[in-house]
Order: sequence, then C-alpha cells, then structure tokens
Amino acid sequence: MDKGKLLIISGFSGVGKGTIVEKMLETFDNYKISISCTTRDPRPAEEDGVHYHFISKDEFEKMIENDELLEHAKYVDNYYGTPKKFVDECLDKGENVILEIESEGAKKVKDKMPEAIMIFVLPPSAKHLKDRLVGRGSEDSEAIEKRLQKAVQETDAMKHYEYFVVNDQIESAAKTIDEIVSDTNPDLPSEDEVLNIKKDIIDFSKGE
Ligand code: 5GP
Repeated sequence: MDKGKLLIISGFSGVGKGTIVEKMLETFDNYKISISCTTRDPRPAEEDGVHYHFISKDEFEKMIENDELLEHAKYVDNYYGTPKKFVDECLDKGENVILEIESEGAKKVKDKMPEAIMIFVLPPSAKHLKDRLVGRGSEDSEAIEKRLQKAVQETDAMKHYEYFVVNDQIESAAKTIDEIVSDTNPDLPSEDEVLNIKKDIIDFSKGE
C-alpha cells in the first residue's frame, strides 16, 4: 500500500488555518489531523484531546526526553509539539496527515521528512488578520499585539514554503489544498500577490 502524504500547514495566527483544516476533514476522505500537545491554556471553546492535548510543562519536557515528539517549538510563551506515533501510524496506513504548525517546527519536520508538502496560508490583507484576531475575542490586546509581531517575523519564514494559499473563502482554500496534494491544477496566487500581502503585513505592523 502507498504511504500517506504529510502536509504541513502554517500561516499567521488568526488567518483561519484551523477552520480550513476542519473544512478539509469534513469535505474530503483520507485526511487525518495530528493533535498537538501544548502547554498553553485552553480557549473557552477548546476541548482536551480534540483541539490539543493540553499538558503541563513537566509533562511536555518528559515527552521531549522520551523522544515522543516529531518536532516541538516555543510560540509566544508556550510550547507546542507534534506526537510522533500518530503521524507514523497514519502514514503507514496510507492516510494523509495534516500538521497545523508554526514555521520553526515546520522546518524541523521538512529536514526529517523532505517529502512533506509545505503550505502557507495567507490572509487577503493585513486588516483581515487583525480583525480576525480581535473578533475571536480569545486574547487580550497585549497577546494580540504579540501575535501580530510574530506574524511579521513569520513573513521571513515564508521563503521555506512551497505553496501559498489565500484564505479569501474557506471552501475554496480547502479545495485548493486538496488539489495541491492530489496534484490536480490548484488555483494558486501569483508571486506578486504573495509579495503584496507580505508587504501589507509588514507595513501594517509599523502603523503605516
Ligand atoms: P494557537 O495558540 O493559536 O493554537 O497556536 C499558535 C501557533 O502554534 C500556530 O501557528 C499553530 O499552528 C502552532 N502550532 C500548533 N501546534 C503545533 C505543534 O505541534 N508544533 C509547532 N511547532 N507549532 C504548533
């Protein structure tokens, strides 16, 4: 049996990666989402074992020690990591596995598994991003500011990604990602569009 494909989906906080991934799981067969471990507190609507495995810093460090994580990274004061066992088991069964992770962890996975498909989700504009972060209501203004600053740092990491998908509409973003995976003419933004969005986010963070 052919092995499944490993998909890395990254993008700025608030860009809607989670919603796109949910849509993919709902719409297409043969995708599994890897549930990460994190030391951050659950948001009101989040459930342990569904959105994340919410664990303590001690438990997280034990997992690192026991080599149970495929990768891990620190993101805005908290640890996040991908449990290795689930990913290996799914790929062996021929299932495609989605990792929704930030860019530092993404690079580590790509180094270990070069066949992984690297996808970066972009907002249509910087304003969309800020509005979503504020509208989500789950972070205070200081955390939102940190996440926006992190977005600017992450514009630099965009160079490591193979595909860019603009989240102007959830269904079409999910469909585009499936087309990337199945290699069937995905509708991708031009290089100029990608550069413009990147510039918009950098300018926005400077208050321009
Ligand atoms: P959030 O706190 O908004 O759920 O996630 C913050 C960031 O951590 C997002 O960019 C998300 O993709 C990333 N992330 C979630 N799980 C993991 C993981 O297992 N490893 C890494 N490296 N990043 C993760």
